[in-house]
Amino acid sequence: MGLFSLFFSKPHSAKLTVTSGNGFHLRPVAKFVATAKQYQSDIQASFQGKSADAKGVNALLSLSLEQGDTFTVTVKGKDAEKALEALSTLFHTLMQDDVEVSVVEKEETKYESKTIAGDIIASGIAIGPATRYQETQTSRASTLSFEEAFQKSEVELNTLNTLYADNKEKSNADIYLAQKELLSSLKAEVTDLASLEKNIADASSQLRGTKLEAKIVDYKDILQRIKAHLGMTSEVHFPTHPFILMADDLLPSQIEILSHTSVQAVILKETSLNSHTAILLRGAGLPSLIADYTAIEEESQIILDAHAGLIVLEASEKELEAAHKRKIADKEAQHSVFEKRFEAAKTQAGKSIKVLANVTDPDSARTAKEEGAEGIGLLRTEFLFKKEQPAYEKQVEAYKAIFAVFDDVTVRTLDVGGDKALPYITLIQEDNPFLGIRGVRLFNTHPEIIAEQLHAIFSAAQNRAVKIMFPMVSSVEEFMEAKAFAQNVAKEYEIDISNIHFGIMIEVPSVLFLLEDFNKVVDFYSIGTNDLTQYLFAIERTHATLKTNDLSPALFDALALIVSKAEKPVSICGELAANTEAIPKLLDIGLETLSVSARRIAETKKTIREQ
Ligand code: PEP
Ligand code: MG
Repeated sequence: MGLFSLFFSKPHSAKLTVTSGNGFHLRPVAKFVATAKQYQSDIQASFQGKSADAKGVNALLSLSLEQGDTFTVTVKGKDAEKALEALSTLFHTLMQDDVEVSVVEKEETKYESKTIAGDIIASGIAIGPATRYQETQTSRASTLSFEEAFQKSEVELNTLNTLYADNKEKSNADIYLAQKELLSSLKAEVTDLASLEKNIADASSQLRGTKLEAKIVDYKDILQRIKAHLGMTSEVHFPTHPFILMADDLLPSQIEILSHTSVQAVILKETSLNSHTAILLRGAGLPSLIADYTAIEEESQIILDAHAGLIVLEASEKELEAAHKRKIADKEAQHSVFEKRFEAAKTQAGKSIKVLANVTDPDSARTAKEEGAEGIGLLRTEFLFKKEQPAYEKQVEAYKAIFAVFDDVTVRTLDVGGDKALPYITLIQEDNPFLGIRGVRLFNTHPEIIAEQLHAIFSAAQNRAVKIMFPMVSSVEEFMEAKAFAQNVAKEYEIDISNIHFGIMIEVPSVLFLLEDFNKVVDFYSIGTNDLTQYLFAIERTHATLKTNDLSPALFDALALIVSKAEKPVSICGELAANTEAIPKLLDIGLETLSVSARRIAETKKTIREQ
């Protein structure tokens, strides 16, 4: 029976069956809840005589729905039909997309030295000094009230969710959404830090030993975030040399921090293979094990063999040598293309294609360099701004650090609005935020923030040739106004910007029909296919159930039109640029510069070389 017939035969209730082996767990539940909240109707889920509000994660999770369980969703209210249809469709997608964590089979490797066995979170091999996780608590005065800290954390988690969703970092986005919903569900129950701590401690002790135990770490992460806003932070000091980290558990938000250190591998004592921390470790490709590390001496050299699920203590020379060989073999197998990452990408016919990187900050710029990028095609500056508005000096410092890594850098001015919110930028409530104040339209609503950003970019550039592009431009007038605004900033601060080039992102379809006029005023174009596709097909890029066909001829015809009409350099920086099926078509159309995320550079170059 199709979804529509299901819906028409029972307009206000539907039976849904959990098909995923993981059950209906926190991440899909959070998405379900977030969608349910978009409707006014009362939405209840019931199972085995128990009923739960489908707009609260904890309520819904309390049904403990496992694979094979069928529960009923009942919707009452004005928009009941729409809500039920959306939730049913979403649920099926969530079940289909929910990949089960499979236990990694252990290889049988014999070591003569002493070993400790563990479960494999992410396979791989590492050799290095074992370092225990250490944090120090610091405290400073905060002017925020508990309510403000709570609210700030909610906004922050929402921002992280949308920013990662935008970068197609799906697991990260889902985890932050889950944490946001978890936090929202606590709102009615807590009034101050003490009651929050008690609530979380109680919930955690109830979760221990249950299938939902992995949720505890998300609670801890939420608590830490709120405490940080109240001035109580925990500082972690990582060594600057390569190391293998031993910790009882890590918070999901710490994995991102970790990926900017010299960590080689991770041993955790108390996590589970399904925890959000484990998911992020796998995503980061860090060899990691769940094992009891108490017997490992601080700073002792160990082999972490996350193929065999073993930690080797006091390894012999022979074992170390074998481990090194395996590590290199792993790298070569994973990245047979990796070795050629610094070489230019030329097609079979000998045409050179530039491969640039999409980055977010100085660290990711440095990573992009190591991954073989030839420059930066898109600096998404939103990430520099994600927590709080950075002071002017901090911005200058960040831009300078990025300009020091590459000569060819394209900076995009702040792209907020639509699905991207920032905690300190208040945007008016709009019915269709994707069609409202976003991108370059912020020049009118938030001129001070944009002026400060431009001032910082100009100051950091210091006569370098830097490209600045404006997002979401839809008319020539909009571009001219934005450029005039930038020129005024330069004039006010007496900065010579003759080396700054101004261009636009092509994300709004109207631009396709205005290219003759744009050619007269812009210095370059960069095609943002993520947004261009959304506006061409009228399907929200973050829509839970509707999906665009990224390989649709309509999109490629649009791109071909741009390339044929543009008389200024054109690059492409949407996700499509790294799509191996799309790349041959993009080259056929005549695109010569692709900007992709750092980890896609080597693969993109390989695909180009095959054409
Ligand atoms: C795009 O829209 O394709 C793009 C690169 O911009 P963002 O994904 O940051 O909106
Ligand atoms: Mg965009």
